[in-house]
Amino acid sequence: MGACYNALTMAQNQSTLSFLGGAGSVTGAHFLLETGKQKILIDCGLLQGGRYGMDENYEDFPYDPSTIDILFLTHAHADHIGRVPKLVRDGFKGVICSTPATRDLSEVMFEDAVRILADEANKRGVSPLYEPEDIGSAFELWQTHDYHQDFEIGDDIHAQFLDAGHILGAAMVEFEREGVKFVATGDLGNSPAPLLRDTEELKGVHYLLMESVYGDRAHEDREDRVGLLKDAILNTHKGNRTLLIPSFAMQRTQILLYEINKMVEAGEVPEIPVYLDSPLASKVTEVYRRYTHLFNDRVREEISSGDDIFEFPKFTIVGDSKESHALLNAPTPKVIIAGSGMSVGGRVLMHEKKLLGDKNTTILFVGYQGVGTLGRRIQDGERLVTIGQKQVRVRARKETIRGFSAHKDRDGLVAFVETSADTLREVFVAMGEPRSSLFLVQRLRDFLGVQARAPEAGEAIQLEF
Ligand SMILES: [Zn+2]
Repeated sequence: MGACYNALTMAQNQSTLSFLGGAGSVTGAHFLLETGKQKILIDCGLLQGGRYGMDENYEDFPYDPSTIDILFLTHAHADHIGRVPKLVRDGFKGVICSTPATRDLSEVMFEDAVRILADEANKRGVSPLYEPEDIGSAFELWQTHDYHQDFEIGDDIHAQFLDAGHILGAAMVEFEREGVKFVATGDLGNSPAPLLRDTEELKGVHYLLMESVYGDRAHEDREDRVGLLKDAILNTHKGNRTLLIPSFAMQRTQILLYEINKMVEAGEVPEIPVYLDSPLASKVTEVYRRYTHLFNDRVREEISSGDDIFEFPKFTIVGDSKESHALLNAPTPKVIIAGSGMSVGGRVLMHEKKLLGDKNTTILFVGYQGVGTLGRRIQDGERLVTIGQKQVRVRARKETIRGFSAHKDRDGLVAFVETSADTLREVFVAMGEPRSSLFLVQRLRDFLGVQARAPEAGEAIQLEF
């Protein structure tokens, strides 16, 4: 009865939601919502296999960027923001909206990327995807809104950011128009998480556009990750070894520092030199320090009781590349955390070149290693790898901790949708490999009885919104 009543009295607005990127694939999130007078983009991500050089990133957008009114950014991972400066370069003059933390992290990410893009363009003999002035122009269009700050964007549509719990500043975007709610999730955090708050519960949502990176997989017991990390540090200390951790600059590194800080200060591991050798991760950590009010209650209590959660005895932030090279001669035992997380660039390559041939080194993988990346080849047990021009015989010990994921797993995703199951008209499952998306679609139908589908790239769907 209630549902019929709603259907009769709600205004029948019509919108079109187009899946321009991030449909049938994890990366390149890019969605267009046309509501009548407004053209709204959600995310403008890079297609990547950890690389910028994919030709698709250089293609024209399938619309005229100058006609877009507003761009919402869910969070500062490259596969959600990576093409923003190109969008601006191609004529976008609307408003860019994000949380303040996403804005600050985006700044750090763009500045890092622009250097890599210039190098890559040089090698390929093409012009770069974007240049520093495009980044400057993007920030002139940028507006920030805190979580739960309601604002109107035209066409009688209200918007607000909700905490997604994925990385610092990550947000779901909730749009409301005459009683109908449409939410785009961006990526959803693996709550409860070490630093951040839990993903907010959704209520009364009618249309949901959601991620499905781990739509078909369950995470291993998350308690294991801290125990495994502790064992790795204890073994490094006892054996007078080197522990090399290739780490993603954003969030993974801050969680490692936070966990090591706790272990050292609780006396669970001996004091051991830990080096953070990643200029990008160091800058990201500085942003995290500015937004400690966004951390969960437990961490905020630790901070207010006087703990600096990213600082502990014998911890060093490595400066220029000369200091980085000097690490080779720093006495063992030692821990080196360096980027990039999949060994596709960054200072970790120099360390791998020097250390992989050394039986006294352990390389510890703490994140997903993409197919074809150097990290994956080492993890898979290749004996001989090429780094730069050099062939390196791998003698180092290899270990992996899988429990650090920043995404919900298949059960977490279903539980997330369940709180809105009564009102949902349809769920659009995207931002995952096809297998993963289709598995989640089936589970949402079977377990919750909601309408769900995984749209194909390029598909446009009519919403009563
Ligand atoms: Zn993400």
